Amino acid sequence: MTTPRLTTANGAPISNQQALTAGPRGPLLMQDVALLEQMQHFNRERIPERVVHAKGSGAYGTFTVTHDVTRYTRADFLNRVGKKTEVFLRFSTVAGERGAADAERDVRGFALKFYTQEGNWDLVGNNTPVFFVRDPYKFQNFIHTQKRHPGTNLRDMDMQWDFWSLCPEALHQVTILMSDRGIPASYRHLNGYGSHTYSMVNASGERVWVKFHFKTLQGIKNLSDDESAGLIGRDRESHQRDLHGAIARGEFPKWRACIQVMTQAQAGAFRWNPFDLTKVWPHKDFPLIDVGTLELNRNPENYFAEVEQAAFKPSALVPGIGPSPDKMLQARLMSYADTHLHRLGANHHQVPVNKPRCPVMNYIRDGALAEGSYGSSPNYWPNSHASAPKPDASFADPAWALGQTIVDRFDSTVDHDDYTQAGNLYRMFDDGHKQRVASRIAGGLGQARKEVQLRMLCHFFRADPDYGARIAKILGIDATATLNELKAHPAVSAG
Ligand code: NDP
Repeated sequence: MTTPRLTTANGAPISNQQALTAGPRGPLLMQDVALLEQMQHFNRERIPERVVHAKGSGAYGTFTVTHDVTRYTRADFLNRVGKKTEVFLRFSTVAGERGAADAERDVRGFALKFYTQEGNWDLVGNNTPVFFVRDPYKFQNFIHTQKRHPGTNLRDMDMQWDFWSLCPEALHQVTILMSDRGIPASYRHLNGYGSHTYSMVNASGERVWVKFHFKTLQGIKNLSDDESAGLIGRDRESHQRDLHGAIARGEFPKWRACIQVMTQAQAGAFRWNPFDLTKVWPHKDFPLIDVGTLELNRNPENYFAEVEQAAFKPSALVPGIGPSPDKMLQARLMSYADTHLHRLGANHHQVPVNKPRCPVMNYIRDGALAEGSYGSSPNYWPNSHASAPKPDASFADPAWALGQTIVDRFDSTVDHDDYTQAGNLYRMFDDGHKQRVASRIAGGLGQARKEVQLRMLCHFFRADPDYGARIAKILGIDATATLNELKAHPAVSAG
């Protein structure tokens, strides 16, 4: 067997790896172009870190349809029981940087790319069914509070709780985050949720609203605060190690994929806004409908190429699956595509992990690192070339009836019930779980200013009096004083 030959990036053989110098003690010569190339490429090895979800782990897998859902959607990859589609799933933590520890208390990203025969569908979800805010103006601000303080460069409890105390819509997600599910034991032991409401359109052009659920078949498994602290001390990459190791051993993790379906008429009569990202649809009203199974069965070969460069965007939709009026989803349709334009460039869709497995034919051209497979075919539309790609009217979406809609900036803080669902979740917990949630919250909230503590306590009391009372007790705050404070802050007492 011949030894592989070391070459420059241009493919020219390299004779050795010692710097070319004038004499054994130097200086260097500019003509050592292979050395210059190595140094220059090294300086450019990193691409911008994702602003959120920077630390992640990914794997390829297979989605298999187990139930017929063609009455809801015409999506090609869901059109036959038994049909299999290749997928790529990237898990992540949200707030930490690329070097952050995996086992931290944080929401987990659950971003799934389906390489379907009618294009890539990206479901860019989390391990929680809801989110902290419902208006996109608040998203960037919320993330700032989760990242580092601009002055101290530290994660800052006062910043986090100040924001949450002024945004009661966050209470539901805060309760999930502080619950025992706040630190998953591994990426294999968590559920994934599309979180947003999406639409499905069937072959007859009928539209329904849907939510996506992926229930882990490994079972939910979490870490206690002590277990996570111990684990992080020993291993900062615990979730990466677990996922990669399990797949390498042939222990392929699986999820049961389900949808909830809401008709247009049900949406009008629903107790909450069905497009509000801070709300779930109760299972008893909208039961889970089985769709398929998801299995992860192949590790990426190169982390940077396949996981770091993986680009997920809610705007990657396929015929039969579409957006809903959800304001956060509408904003993400632009924002995620935009971040990949910044992080990877105009041709991020040509990177192998992002590349559709079906033919791609359009008039988008050029830009940095264009792969150029279009050759000399026309780059404009309309054109009169018989073989050029043409729009296909059979893929038209049915119209949306917006009726007498008024365009305005609607206040997302009034006329909303931010407390019932957070309270419902709290009431599901047993006594020990309630106490752990209360002490975790008090641990962080206790580091915020007194004014923030009181404002936040009002929200816990509104969700459930016991919720507020337990936290107040640990904080050493008189519950009566808090209730007086509740009356003194009508501005944040919606609900
Ligand atoms: P259900 O009793 O029908 O559903 C409860 C859901 O809560 C189950 O899906 C369960 O997941 C999940 N769950 C249990 N413990 C936690 C936790 N610590 N953090 C997050 N989720 C948890 O009631 P409802 O549908 O009326 O929902 C009640 C509350 O449950 C909601 O307010 C919401 O906070 C939470 N929830 C609801 C979901 C939904 O889509 N309706 C989805 C997930 C959570 P599992 O089956 O894995 O045990």
